[in-house]
Formats: sequence, structure tokens, C-alpha cells
Amino acid sequence: MKRVAILGSTGSIGRSALAVVDAHPDRLKVVSLAAGDNAALLAEQVSRYCPDVVAMANGAGLDRLKDLCGAGAPRMSAGTEGLVAVATHPAADIVICASAGTAGLEAVLAAIEAWKTIALANKEVLVMAGQLVTDAAHRRGVAILPVDSEHNAIHQCLHGRPASEIRRLILTASGGPFRDYDAAALRLVDPDAALRHPTWQMGRKITIDSATMMNKGLEVIEARWLFGVGADQIDVVIHPQSIVHSMVEMIDGSVLAQLGVTDMRLPIQYACSYPERWSGSLPSLDLTRAGRLDFLPPPDERFPCLRLAYRALRAGGTAPVALNAANEVAVEAFLDRKLGFMDIPCVIEQTLDAHTQEDVSALNVVRRVDEWARAHARTVAGELRQPGS
Ligand code: MG
Repeated sequence: MKRVAILGSTGSIGRSALAVVDAHPDRLKVVSLAAGDNAALLAEQVSRYCPDVVAMANGAGLDRLKDLCGAGAPRMSAGTEGLVAVATHPAADIVICASAGTAGLEAVLAAIEAWKTIALANKEVLVMAGQLVTDAAHRRGVAILPVDSEHNAIHQCLHGRPASEIRRLILTASGGPFRDYDAAALRLVDPDAALRHPTWQMGRKITIDSATMMNKGLEVIEARWLFGVGADQIDVVIHPQSIVHSMVEMIDGSVLAQLGVTDMRLPIQYACSYPERWSGSLPSLDLTRAGRLDFLPPPDERFPCLRLAYRALRAGGTAPVALNAANEVAVEAFLDRKLGFMDIPCVIEQTLDAHTQEDVSALNVVRRVDEWARAHARTVAGELRQPGS
């Protein structure tokens, strides 16, 4: 029996993780859960899974949860302290980190220090603090198992082969809903259109990141830390069908690929079962129904976010922190209809231009640069603000 802590249990990945627990009640048991602001759903999960420890993102959410749970409620707390309590539950074997944005960073580091296996769905953790997190995991002998479908695919293909045997990683990208748009059409994209993703059902922030291709950019940085390869060894190809989840080219020229139906329960279950495989209830992949698999060159300058992510990765140090923070600010402003779609890369580029890079020597450096970049990006976004908004 593996005991599971879930950070972000009410989000899209968290709910899929609980579906995996439901499918394997003899193998997985929930011991602690943390949610953002959905107290009603967390209360339902508490009555169903009976965790010992739960957390909400803030005090107001915690008060709502307390009202809903009443007597017999588990131990509860809020904020970073709450996330850390959930992630370091003494009985937890594996921590599924699917909390949104940058909130999970302290909790992941605390879980590593407590010798927990990490199943990582939150790419911001490695984008912001890849060096700190992978150094800590190495020091503790803790595994970081990727849940992000592309990295999970690569992990399956590599199956323990060392980085020295990798020639390159090939991340596949659906290309998002605007793959064929020209520059003029992209400028007119609004949040409603951007929130309709052709193949994956995901949260709002990551759906916009998929539309701008920043999601793939963040995944390139994530891959660098998970697999210990350089930026020049990570390629992106557009694969609209999203059936090949990613590939690895080994040094002998052999290319290994992982294919499957597009359902996040598959990578989550693999991270939970690793190094074993468990039977699953997902339908078989029918390639004859897919008919054809297309592979196209990576996106060009219509999608500058991917280039900006490579720029930040090559620059190193705190540059990816600034990239990530500026992106979060820009995406939020776009969703609030205060910025145009093509203003998102402008905000990020201007923030990177203004950023003075430092080494990521400690978490407080990450937090300071993150705050600076958010403030700078807000100023840039204010200047770009659309007329009439
Ligand atoms: Mg992905």
C-alpha cells in the first residue's frame, strides 16, 4: 500500500489523481489533501477519503472548510504552512504536487527533505528552482517522477538510462487552437477562444499557456532539470493528434516514443506505480481510428513565447524565474481582458530585458526575483493596456 498526499486535490490533475486512487483502493490510500479555494469540493473529498491532514490556500477558505466539515474534521491549516503540513505528513510515501502556480515550491522542498517520493505535475517548481530542487532530491536520494504527460513519456522511454546515452529529447506539442493563424488573426484572439483547447481538458492558466506555446517553453526548462540535458538537446515538434506524448533519440540513433490515449490518469498512475506497472481501465489506443500522425516543424515567430523560454533557459540563473513570473502576470491580465493575446510575449520579453540575472543559491533569491518580475511585468502590462479596458 502506498500512502498518498495530494497538493491541489480539487484541480484538474488532483481530481484525476483521486480517480487513480479510486481505481486502485488496494494499492493507494489518501492521507492528506490540499486545495486552492474550492472548499466545497475539498469537504466532499474529506468525507470520501478521510485524510488526516488537509489545507486550504488561505484563511477565508479554511473558515469555509471548517463550517462544511463540522465535527470530526481532520487537522486543518492554511497557506504555505498548510501545504507543507500536507506534503510532509509522516505516513505519506508519495506526494503528488499539482497545486497551481508557484505556491507549491516550499512544500516540494519540505517533502524532499522528509524523504518523500515526488510525483510532479507542477512545472513551475522546476522552472523557478530546478537547481535547488534537483540538488536537494539528489542529496536525499529522493525520486522526482514527472506527471506532465510529455516528461512522463520520456521517463517511460528512458526507463533508467543515463543522460549520457541521450542524444536529444523530442517534446511533442499539440500546437494549440491557433496553430494555423497568421499574425493578424492572432492579435484578435480573445480569452473565450483561447480557453477552448482541441485535445486536453485543463485549468485556465495552462490552457492559455498552451495557446501561446509558453506551456511547451516551460516544459523545455522542466525537461532540462528532470533529465539533466542541455537546451541544445531538447527539440519541440508540433504533433496535432497528441497521440505520441514525446520521444527520445538515443546516442545510437534509435528513437523511442510513448503513445497513448490523451488522459492524465495514465501518467499519474505510472508515477504512482513506478517502477511497477498496474492494470488500468482506460480504453486501448486504436491507431487505425487515428488514421494518421502528423509531425510539423516547431512554431515560428508567430509564437515568440517558445523562443523566450529557450532564451531564459540558456541564460540560466534567475532568468527562468523572471520568465515564469512575467508570464503569470501577463496571462492573468489577458484573462481579465486587460491585455491582447500578442501582448503576452511583449510583457515577458520586456521583463527579461530589464532583469539582472543572479545565481539561484537559495529560495529567498527565487522569491525576491519572482516579486520583482511580477511588479515589473505589471508596469509593462499597464503601459500596453488595451484602449477602452
Ligand atoms: Mg504537458
